[in-house]
Amino acid sequence: MKPNIKDLRTDELTKFLLERKHPAYRAKQIYQWLFQKRATSFSEMSNLSRALREELERYFSISRPRVLRRAESRDRTVKFLYGFADDVSVESVLIPERHRLTLCISTQAGCGLGCAFCATARLGLKRNLSASEIVDQVLEASRSLLPEERITHIVLMGMGEPLANYDHTLRALEIMTDGDWGVGISPRRVTLSTVGLVPQIEKLMAETHVNLAVSLHAATDELRNELMPVNRKYSLTQLIECCRRLPVPRRKRITFEYVLLRGVNDSEADARALVKLLKGIPCKVNVIPFNPHPGSSFQRPSDVDITRFQMVLHHAGVQINVRRPRGDDIQAACGQLNGEVGGPDARPARVLATAS
Ligand code: SAH
Repeated sequence: MKPNIKDLRTDELTKFLLERKHPAYRAKQIYQWLFQKRATSFSEMSNLSRALREELERYFSISRPRVLRRAESRDRTVKFLYGFADDVSVESVLIPERHRLTLCISTQAGCGLGCAFCATARLGLKRNLSASEIVDQVLEASRSLLPEERITHIVLMGMGEPLANYDHTLRALEIMTDGDWGVGISPRRVTLSTVGLVPQIEKLMAETHVNLAVSLHAATDELRNELMPVNRKYSLTQLIECCRRLPVPRRKRITFEYVLLRGVNDSEADARALVKLLKGIPCKVNVIPFNPHPGSSFQRPSDVDITRFQMVLHHAGVQINVRRPRGDDIQAACGQLNGEVGGPDARPARVLATAS
């Protein structure tokens, strides 16, 4: 199997070119073909010499994931199931809204963090995705769009913990956000969500300009330990201190996610504890009413309870947004991704296309 050229770093590709007496700027042209024009063969790369195209062909392959399934929700959310060479599969979710088109991508097949309420956690960690496998989700989803449509926002909120696959995620972010040779989506329109791996958050904030979302889900260590085993490693105090330490322009953009679980973390006292915990941090809170999935015993709170929780934060001056479930009829909402479109127990979905 020839190495996938999309996984070559710029210095590696440049070295390959220089060793064969090609100018270094060819690397940029090759990346533009791969990431901007979404080339699937070297023969398309018409501004390269035939000799170079043949050499590239001899040494490298160009990856292209298989679209195993594509399902569209009644709210127009689309879920893709992509298969990679070793039969590992992951999901991406395309979410159309009035003025934006957001793609939610995965960074790992499965996940090893074990959050109690998450469907992906049940799979365990299968493996990290490579940088190209992360970026290929964007390239493939883009191919499915109408000519006038364009992905405007990327969220790393699909399967897996992006910061547990730090190096590949960072390279994928570089490819997705570079305007010169990469996909060209501004880092201000990219949001990475993490369970709260403190050292990696600090590194990410120093090395990129993407937005940070932190999955909080509880305002006390006792409850967070139960819901998110990672809390035993990085406690709430460490996590919140890390967020406070971030330079102000970065801190302003922190989003805290809070999955609302009936009878577990949805009381007025929980809301007040959350207000207290976040005091002084310029941030916004994204409340995600629990999205049920087969085999989970957690429940979504009633609308009255959701509103009550929301009001406590609102009256305390915290910017809060309650996330509507998108694509929940096709198990595409937050925390429902399990590497299968539908699942044996899912409600019937309209499956638009199935690749052979
Ligand atoms: N591993 C990262 C990326 C996943 S993002 C992280 O944990 O942040 C997906 C978001 O959905 C996270 O905030 C996650 O905790 C939340 N989530 C997981 N399962 C959910 C469910 N069943 N209902 C609602 N939100 C859920």
